[in-house]
Amino acid sequence: MQASPRVVIVGGGTAGWMTAAAFARSLGGRCGLTLVESDEIGTIGVGEASIPNLIEFNRALGLDENEFLRECGGSFKLGIEFVNWGAVGERYIHGFGQLGAGAQGLPFHHFWLRGQRLGCAAELGDYALNTAAPRAARFMRARPDMAGSPLAELAHAFHFDASRYAAFLRRYAEARGVQRIEGRVTQVTRRAEGGIAAIELANGTRIDGDFFIDCSGQHGLLIQQTLQAGFEDWSHWLPCDRAWAVPSEAATPLLPMTRATAHSAGWQWRIPLQHRLGNGHVFASRFMTEEDARTVLLDHLDTPAQAEPRLIRFRTGRAKRFWVGNCVAVGLSSGFLEPLESTSIHLIHMAVARILDFFPHGKEIDPADVAEYNALTTREYENIRDFLALHYKLTRRDDSEFWRYCRSMPIPDTLQRKLDLFAANGRVIRHSDELFAEVSWVQVMLGQGLMPRGHHPFADQLSEPELRDYLDHVRQVIARCVQAMPEHADYLRSQGALA
Ligand code: FAD
Repeated sequence: MQASPRVVIVGGGTAGWMTAAAFARSLGGRCGLTLVESDEIGTIGVGEASIPNLIEFNRALGLDENEFLRECGGSFKLGIEFVNWGAVGERYIHGFGQLGAGAQGLPFHHFWLRGQRLGCAAELGDYALNTAAPRAARFMRARPDMAGSPLAELAHAFHFDASRYAAFLRRYAEARGVQRIEGRVTQVTRRAEGGIAAIELANGTRIDGDFFIDCSGQHGLLIQQTLQAGFEDWSHWLPCDRAWAVPSEAATPLLPMTRATAHSAGWQWRIPLQHRLGNGHVFASRFMTEEDARTVLLDHLDTPAQAEPRLIRFRTGRAKRFWVGNCVAVGLSSGFLEPLESTSIHLIHMAVARILDFFPHGKEIDPADVAEYNALTTREYENIRDFLALHYKLTRRDDSEFWRYCRSMPIPDTLQRKLDLFAANGRVIRHSDELFAEVSWVQVMLGQGLMPRGHHPFADQLSEPELRDYLDHVRQVIARCVQAMPEHADYLRSQGALA
């Protein structure tokens, strides 16, 4: 039997500690796990909104969800409200979970499209619990025992303080044998056969390893600086490259949704936590100066700022290879797709799960495993890229250079096909491994004003009065469910989830 590889994780941000915690849980004492981080360098310190899949990550670690919320000052998230994206003054919510209620054998939006044409459909957001509840600041976890009710299917994610989450996972990982070493990596020694043999810290400590995970953030210390994986730049599709971030005082009511408000050269996030709001202005430096972008952020805060804004620079795109030799990049070292749909932490989760699937036997790494890992991760990045680029492309705004650029920019063929298909008859075909579900695409495309020319012919099988009754019924069911839900903050309190 081959000896287990010695695993070295470089970096202790969200990526480093998520990796360390998941490895410690899955590998038990079978591998030596070492994590190196540098307090002097620090972490990026933003990344506070998730998508529902984080539930599975936490569950796999055996974490209690209420404890997680308490530890991280967290709140629930039912979706994202987009303001001023299709046109100034417009807003819509991209909610997780289902549209409509009650099975009619066809995705709900086809009935809604027909209802729109007949003038008997209200706003799409009235027909889904994940969009109606956050507007009323209401929340409760799904009740699977209420089969047939939208309350059985409510899908949630979280807002949380990312640095507290990393600290929480650090305690978890260290309790399960992960050795943390504080220090700055100043030298990397390569193996003769390719890959990495050891890292060296500023104080001279040498750490040998068989399998390295690069969680060094944008530095890409191992994957880029040492192994030269290369970078595929996507800034022509995702043009923002800077963000000013600032916390502000907590707001009431505590909304169970993120807000993304478009400005003239980017957009601003508003993430409600228990103890503060997280805010940030993501912008394209080609179209707005850093100083102006800072002013825009401060002018649009809902509550007083608690600190000086901090500037973060980034580049959108991905590593050309995520796994090279005996090193895999996880987190920002693998690429960045901008925070619009809160997908970065999800990509960390997926990378960690996939590395465990392809975990090497000993020191030997099979090139077929590496090739498959890289192909799967590339597809995952491209799918998410298309969904993000959709938000920029699909605008009718022409009030600034930035939005005129976005409207006219060329887009990937894969995205163009999705737009063409939807524009014809409202169809969305989701390929099996795509992250975003049909309802996500539908909500964003309709929310930003792409009204299909037709709908699925089966939606015509209801007579006009039947269609009206059906739409009214769904709207009433959703409204009744919202009424039955507690206020978000009260719910957190009732669950013992308030810090
Ligand atoms: P970092 O946090 O930068 O950590 C890097 C680690 O490497 C640190 O511990 C550092 O000390 C260490 N390190 C680096 N070099 C060395 C060295 N030489 N020696 C030793 N240690 C070293 N994601 C979401 O899911 N939702 C969001 O809402 C979201 N919002 C975001 C907003 C912005 C503006 C940005 C830029 C990102 C956002 N993200 C979001 C992404 C999210 O912040 C990151 O994916 C996540 O924090 C992971 O970062 P990381 O651990 O890869 O890197």
